Amino acid sequence: MIDSLTREQVLQRAGRRCEYCLLHEDDDPLFTFHIEHIIAKQHGGTDALSNLALACHQDNLRKGPNLTGIDPVTRQLVRLFNPRRHNGSKHFRWAYSTDGPYIRKNCSERSASAMTRAQ
Ligand SMILES: [Zn+2]
Repeated sequence: MIDSLTREQVLQRAGRRCEYCLLHEDDDPLFTFHIEHIIAKQHGGTDALSNLALACHQDNLRKGPNLTGIDPVTRQLVRLFNPRRHNGSKHFRWAYSTDGPYIRKNCSERSASAMTRAQ
């Protein structure tokens, strides 16, 4: 259980944006953002701030406890994006669509778990 102080620290550090897709929590009025364990507790992850990330509902569900995914194009096993280790600007691209203010395009679309791959 993440206490309210830790939750606020994670929210502040992330600028209230999902650390996987950069969606701001104000732009997702339907769901509360999650405090996500980058390395899931079942894999030995802890509640330390360095292991916590702010994630939108969709990305938290996609990632789940996974640490890797299969790239459907290359069929290679790839590490998932880790917001504490990887630079998001190298992994995420933004585009505009008539369906909404933006759609996100990143390697996550290719990965089995829909998360971007690391280098
Ligand atoms: Zn997200």
